[in-house]
Amino acid sequence: MKTYRIALVPGDGIGKEVIPAGQRILDALTSAELSLHFRFEHFDWGGDYYRRHGVMMPSEGLDALRKHDAILFGSAGDPNIPDHITLWGLRLKICQGMDQYANIRPTRILPGIDTPLKHCKPEDLNWMIVRENTEGEYSGVGGRTHQGHPLEVATDLSVMTRAGVERILRFAFRLAQARPRKLLTVITKSNAQRHAMVMWDEIAAQVAAEFPDVQWDKELVDAATARMVNRPASLDTIVATNLHADILSDLAAALAGSLGIAPTANLNPERVYPSMFEPIHGSAFDIMGKGLANPIGTFWSIVLMLEHLGETSAAHRLMLAIEHVTANPRLHTRDLGGNATTADVTEAVCAQLAAKAQDIHP
Ligand code: NAD
Ligand code: MN
Repeated sequence: MKTYRIALVPGDGIGKEVIPAGQRILDALTSAELSLHFRFEHFDWGGDYYRRHGVMMPSEGLDALRKHDAILFGSAGDPNIPDHITLWGLRLKICQGMDQYANIRPTRILPGIDTPLKHCKPEDLNWMIVRENTEGEYSGVGGRTHQGHPLEVATDLSVMTRAGVERILRFAFRLAQARPRKLLTVITKSNAQRHAMVMWDEIAAQVAAEFPDVQWDKELVDAATARMVNRPASLDTIVATNLHADILSDLAAALAGSLGIAPTANLNPERVYPSMFEPIHGSAFDIMGKGLANPIGTFWSIVLMLEHLGETSAAHRLMLAIEHVTANPRLHTRDLGGNATTADVTEAVCAQLAAKAQDIHP
């Protein structure tokens, strides 16, 4: 029997609802897949921790996480604490501290889910967005001076290193190569940003030479938004900077039906550190504490976690259970136009996992 140590970091808002739901799913998988076992450790970091201790997570927190095989994260964001404190004090601290430089965001239209795109068939939209996750526009380099005076100056410096760009592009080419279409679009803004983005284009051409079987093209980020809406089938794997891919992936999530469904993985591909899996949505202050949060984004993130751990059959089984549930409109939460609660959806996915287990272990 294989035991995985999983760190659970619910964070704030609906993170505290969807992560316990995710734990239920992992427990149900343990009952279904007899060879699989998870040992959980809970971390109560986030806004409440900040009110007690003045920090979002303790300084020795990264060491505590390192002992785990994977991290399942909810969201960081509290109505009474500035967003830059909650984000930098928790999520970015983990991503950067664990060198999780490759953020991947699969986007598909799941069974039963409507896309706002009028002429799009579900099979036309099947993307894998790769986001550089440790530098660029979110490097944290910059500052403010003359604060509060008319002379005030503020900078956020976008830092691109050749090593950082090369490793994310190589990761993206490799991922594109592993997908059936072997098609990669490299997104930049190298017309206006004439230094770092031009370096991206140059490095992309160099790395492309290592992957002769991958077909690739370039697109400027503004044009890319229109292409996503007008010609979704022309895209497959997409790679972009930290900021650009952040924005494009929220658009992608909306085109695929709802922010509540979309998953993401923050990967340290060399596996020196644990990787972190999370729904892409935030704390959703407007619905928190009401049992209305869609847990599918968290469940799909668990699929990514299982794939990363090499548990492909469990990953596949969970994805099928998720799709079985999304196909039923009575099990849609409010973001999808339905009336189901977080608990309804969670129980339905667990029941489906148990039913499938009966088929396999009668
Ligand atoms: P949000 O994702 O929290 O919410 C946007 C909208 O989508 C809201 O109307 C919300 O109700 C809805 N929504 C989101 N997830 C849903 C779900 N699972 N089920 C149903 N509806 C869902 O984004 P926001 O409002 O811009 O941000 C709120 C807070 O979350 C801010 O503090 C922000 O900084 C933080 N945030 C954190 C992360 C993260 O930790 N990864 C990501 C995004 C935003
Ligand atoms: Mn985002």
